[in-house]
Amino acid sequence: MSDFIWVLLVILSLCVAAYQRLPLMNAIIVAGGILLVGTIFGSLGLLSWLVFIVVMAPFAVPSIRIPYLTKPMLAFYRKVMPEMSTTEQEAIDAGTVWWDGEIFSGRPDWQKLHAIPMGRLTPEEQAFLDGPVDKVCSMIDEWQVNHKDADLPSEVWAYLKEHKFFAMIIKKEYGGLEFSAFAQSRVIQKLAGTSAVLSSTVGVPNSLGPGELLQHYGTEAQKNHYLPRLASGDEIPCFALTSPEAGSDAGAIPDQGIVCKGEWEGEEVLGMRLTFDKRYITLAPVATVIGLAFKLYDPDGLLGSKKELGITCALIPHDTKGLDVGRRHFPLNTPFQNGPVRGNDIFVPLDYIIGGADMAGKGWRMLMECLSVGRCITLPSTSAGGAKSCAMSTGAYARIRRQFKLPIGHMEGVEEMLARIGGNAYMMDAVTRFSTVGVDLGEKPSVISAICKYHLTERSRVTVNDAMDVHGGKGIMLGPNNYLGRGYQGMPISITVEGANILTRNMMIFGQGAMRCHPFVLDEIKAAALSDEQEAIKAFDKAVFGHIGFALANAYRSIWFTLTGGYFHQSPFKDSTARYYQLLQGYSANLALLTDLSMGILGGTLKRRERLSARLGDLLSYIYLASATLKRFDEEGRQHEDLPLLHWAMQDLIYNLETALMDFLDNFPVKWLGLVLKLKLIPFGHRVSKPSDATEHAIARLLQQPGTARTRLGQGQYLTREPGSLPGELEQTLEDVLAAEPVFDNICRALGEKRSFTQLDQLAEEALAKDLISEAEAELLKRTEKGRAKIIAVDDFAPEELVAAIR
Ligand SMILES: Cc1cc2nc3c(=O)[nH]c(=O)nc-3n(C[C@H](O)[C@H](O)[C@H](O)COP(=O)(O)OP(=O)(O)OC[C@H]3O[C@@H](n4cnc5c(N)ncnc54)[C@H](O)[C@@H]3O)c2cc1C
Repeated sequence: MSDFIWVLLVILSLCVAAYQRLPLMNAIIVAGGILLVGTIFGSLGLLSWLVFIVVMAPFAVPSIRIPYLTKPMLAFYRKVMPEMSTTEQEAIDAGTVWWDGEIFSGRPDWQKLHAIPMGRLTPEEQAFLDGPVDKVCSMIDEWQVNHKDADLPSEVWAYLKEHKFFAMIIKKEYGGLEFSAFAQSRVIQKLAGTSAVLSSTVGVPNSLGPGELLQHYGTEAQKNHYLPRLASGDEIPCFALTSPEAGSDAGAIPDQGIVCKGEWEGEEVLGMRLTFDKRYITLAPVATVIGLAFKLYDPDGLLGSKKELGITCALIPHDTKGLDVGRRHFPLNTPFQNGPVRGNDIFVPLDYIIGGADMAGKGWRMLMECLSVGRCITLPSTSAGGAKSCAMSTGAYARIRRQFKLPIGHMEGVEEMLARIGGNAYMMDAVTRFSTVGVDLGEKPSVISAICKYHLTERSRVTVNDAMDVHGGKGIMLGPNNYLGRGYQGMPISITVEGANILTRNMMIFGQGAMRCHPFVLDEIKAAALSDEQEAIKAFDKAVFGHIGFALANAYRSIWFTLTGGYFHQSPFKDSTARYYQLLQGYSANLALLTDLSMGILGGTLKRRERLSARLGDLLSYIYLASATLKRFDEEGRQHEDLPLLHWAMQDLIYNLETALMDFLDNFPVKWLGLVLKLKLIPFGHRVSKPSDATEHAIARLLQQPGTARTRLGQGQYLTREPGSLPGELEQTLEDVLAAEPVFDNICRALGEKRSFTQLDQLAEEALAKDLISEAEAELLKRTEKGRAKIIAVDDFAPEELVAAIR
């Protein structure tokens, strides 16, 4: 072999070593070995060895590497990287890394994904879902709640308390239900499909709030006092963080507490004077205990030398003197309890601080930790539950409602909407299952919870819009017969709360993901911040060279992906899902590569380039959502009938991912590099097409026809056939229509004329008189007509009924 071939082999061995992520020394040994063979059997000589040593020595020999590479790199790093604020640092420290870390690795391990256990309900949790949850759903009259009372009826409040709906997160030792996150998610899903007021009322105390904070950080006395009372519903909690001047920028709250001495129950005690103005606080008007976040100051040094202690959380009983609470906001006609809380110079003892005086100033960290769990559960589950209910109701309605002598669901334009509703519902349920299992495994997945919150609420918005379009005027006319309009009206609420969506997509997902999930970035930041210079150099050396190897590996993996289309990537299955695993593997390498390049080129300014950050976050998010979807398909036994739903979700996610990737590269600040990267990473544009018309047709049909795939899609929703249950009536009428159609066709054939599928009761009489059908068939036609007329009916009112209906 010629020298050129031997040199090529050496370079190739280094590429393969990098691709396989071999440690640096192992890679050098392999390359050196090939060089040796080339020297013995070929004609490689001294020059080759000299070049090899000059290139490799700085990496392999610490005494060369550290002074000449590591130290200047550390100095440069410190110059370009902005310091992290305490709130940013605490937000990043609060979470843990789970499947998001695998995605950032550039090489997700699919065996690991499928080895994660699936979510299961205990018999007790299942009984709760089948019993009290069904019961409370049956007690809700949405029109009464939303339009007339602007509140849940008192018997529903009492039932929720009695059955401990507010205590799903509270441990059994305090009298709570201590349900898994997975079970909580199933409860919220079912409630959300029935009533947004109900699901928010139950969701909030089980999410971020006094219960969660007390269990993690409360003193024994606080836990023993409050937790049993919260579990029994004797206390209703709320949590007040947001103020008029600090919404998204919650760390900037102007609300304050001043440590001082004061009189409390006849004695002089150490306490705080609190002044605050909070708004938008869910459950505040009915809360008996208010979790309050404020900044604590100790100007007289009563607690120590620190004057500004920072954000602190305390529990304030609602009857505390001077507390102004009880007024209500009116959130988009979805009248769950929500309102302002204000206080001016209220004195309370220090032991009102959650966790006592020791926890003064640690409130932000507490909130971030709890939020990283809560955001995985309540809003994503509300969104998934809403989407599943939309899929069931819209599928049934589209089959029942006819225009142009056809069910509207058989029209291609409507099929597009139905497919999007079905595909999204399938994916969203997959994501809530997977993510809540992560929480149950002990994770505090802050990045994943941001992904879930943003993407599921956005998909929910798309779904409810589609459902409204398919329902036409039926969705628009509010009244007791409308099961959609209120969900549509209230949709922006979930977009806004717990971190508004624009902020979540543009700042949080990638911003925190890159710091938290990247295998080396956080180590570099920590190393650079060390005060001991020797320690800093040692730690930085380890992190930065690990990082360089990681970046090289992802560059090789990305190029390999482009050259081969990913067809050589391993997939755990050999069926029609294999391609998705291969593509996701490649895009994970692209994400890791682009993360490093962007951070390397833009440094600290990447944080301000929100739109670039958002698109990298999209890559991360779509791989996460796709992983969860593939996992669901496998957990449910790889059901053939579910394939259209799976294919729709995967193709939609990967298509969107590719769009985000191309948009990112088109807008990369270094134009020529963006172009080069586009040619290298995605030279021919989309690798995956949008879901085809045939796939969408299959989903549309699946939604309109009872069957196992449809049942799985709506699994866990409140669809009982009890009289008065609108979802139940839809299901029953769907079945009746499908059963009545062949009878109707037979009659038309016998009469020799094509009638319209209306006035079936009259047709039944006529056919019975002519002996064309049996009594049972006539009964079916009459029942179908009754159900059909009820389903397409909308409400009307005397004018005065609509005037100021909410007292
Ligand atoms: C119905 C409801 C219930 C709520 N319940 C509670 C509760 O129980 N307790 C509580 O403490 N709070 C609660 N909130 C408050 C909620 O968390 C805030 O509304 C939310 O944080 C957004 O703040 P804001 O409405 O002031 O919007 P702003 O902060 O004014 O934001 C307006 C827009 O700007 C965007 N934006 C802001 N900063 C950035 C950025 N850096 N990059 C990109 N976009 C950005 C936001 O995404 C948003 O779209 C509730 C709110 C509502 C509406």
